[in-house]
Amino acid sequence: MTFPPIREELRGIEPYGAPQLSAALAPVQLNVNENPYPPSAAVVADVATAVAQATTSLNRYPDRELTDLRAALAAYLSGDSGGVPIGPEQVWAANGSNEVMLQLLQAFGGPGRTAISFAPTYSMYPEYARDTHTRWLTGRRESDFSLDLDAARALVEAERPSVVLLPSPNNPTGTALPPEAVTALCEAVGDGGVVVVDEAYGEFRRAGTQSALELLPVHRNLVVSRTMSKAFALAGARLGYLAAAAEICDAIRVVRLPYHLSAVTQAVALAALRHAPELLGRVDDLRTERDATVGWLRDQGLDVAESDANFVLFGTFADRHAVWQALLDQGVLIRETGPDGWLRVSVGTAEEMTSFKHALTRALKEIA
Ligand code: PMP
Repeated sequence: MTFPPIREELRGIEPYGAPQLSAALAPVQLNVNENPYPPSAAVVADVATAVAQATTSLNRYPDRELTDLRAALAAYLSGDSGGVPIGPEQVWAANGSNEVMLQLLQAFGGPGRTAISFAPTYSMYPEYARDTHTRWLTGRRESDFSLDLDAARALVEAERPSVVLLPSPNNPTGTALPPEAVTALCEAVGDGGVVVVDEAYGEFRRAGTQSALELLPVHRNLVVSRTMSKAFALAGARLGYLAAAAEICDAIRVVRLPYHLSAVTQAVALAALRHAPELLGRVDDLRTERDATVGWLRDQGLDVAESDANFVLFGTFADRHAVWQALLDQGVLIRETGPDGWLRVSVGTAEEMTSFKHALTRALKEIA
């Protein structure tokens, strides 16, 4: 018997995660789609006061139903849903949207059930499926990373998934889904499953496009997942959430661990939400920087995927690892991910993007 007696299918598997390198090794960190702007002194002070207040009752368990937080998140979402009101009973939260989606798989996946997505797609999804013994299947995206709706519908009809995971904007490609795609999949799945539109990067979408939140009144099997990690610049706080029919939230409440969201996390998130306009204030700057990055990369003669997110996928390179390494040698850490030959860069500050451009120009010369 080999020790430890881990489940056979987990033996030898490396834990998921991009390399975390120190700032000394990689001063320009553009690899995990973080927001480059730390909280202001005013936010730091308010969060610290809220944490101090929560600390006075840490002998007690936190509010299991996240009552105040769900109300505050519902109010925030109601401002980004094209006028569709979203109530607290339609909101759920957990430690990052990764945990929210794992809980969705715990409630709606499981043995004998199937979850699907369309590749290239977010690399954590197969792990949620593995960890809940859900069968995992992927369809393909088109060469511009959009969805062929007829093929997507046909896959759903053939496989009858109980969970469809649709990142929009997609990671790692940055591609947003049009509302017709969400509607087509919600209709194809019907009451036999839930369609999760993962809008981790939703707030970065281009002007004139809409969130899937607007479709909640039309499709009762639709779930829209969000996070405070990206646009809210709060990745370290670990707060993800979703909006869906109240019945879907109630189903998740069956599988969540009691007191899964600490009093400290709830206090931090509530304090941060009071500063939403300020925290979200950099989204416009990041969008501008993203569009400039897309333009600059195209000017270098590279292929660049359209992006509605805070990152850009570009390529293609015969040896992408060599390009990644040449950037790292110059202190710029990006991500070697996505289809063969492509690389992904997160959008940082203007100074960070200047460093990235200099480093890439040099790398391309060295490799040519
Ligand atoms: N969904 C997508 C598409 C992501 O890229 C990420 C983070 N990389 C997440 C969900 C999870 O983010 P978090 O757990 O920080 O909310």
